[in-house]
Amino acid sequence: MSFALFLDIDGVLNTRTTVVGAPSGRTGIDESRVRLLKKALKQFGDAAIVLTSDWKLMREDGDDFSYLVSMLAKFGLSLSGKTTDVWVGRGEGIQSYLAEHPEIDEYVILDDNTFDFSNYPKLWERLLLTNGIENAEYASKTPAIEAMLFLEAVKD
Ligand SMILES: [Mg+2]
Repeated sequence: MSFALFLDIDGVLNTRTTVVGAPSGRTGIDESRVRLLKKALKQFGDAAIVLTSDWKLMREDGDDFSYLVSMLAKFGLSLSGKTTDVWVGRGEGIQSYLAEHPEIDEYVILDDNTFDFSNYPKLWERLLLTNGIENAEYASKTPAIEAMLFLEAVKD
């Protein structure tokens, strides 16, 4: 059994009112939100974190990407991979990732946008829409159990 979290950054670990900045000056990452992410992931054991955000397009040796990695590391979290969609939808990118990683049997998606997720019922049932991770809510009227467990831990 293997759990994965598909993680967007902007709108999840920051919001429009975030004041901290990344090295480039773009909106940074709020520590309190990474702490909440860590808390929600605890129940899933060895969770793989897969980056879906546009931050995945950054150079891995660049300052902003290093900043992201170090903010996660502060809470003992690390990235296991990233989706590779650029010209297709984010949902399609996750579908491809799941096809390449059959070991993943439970997953949750955090994002502040719906993109093409509703084209994929299983993704939709595991999507938590955010306005900052603390304001996560179900996309689907019939959420998957892992989405329910994750949200309960966020709200707890
Ligand atoms: Mg976003």
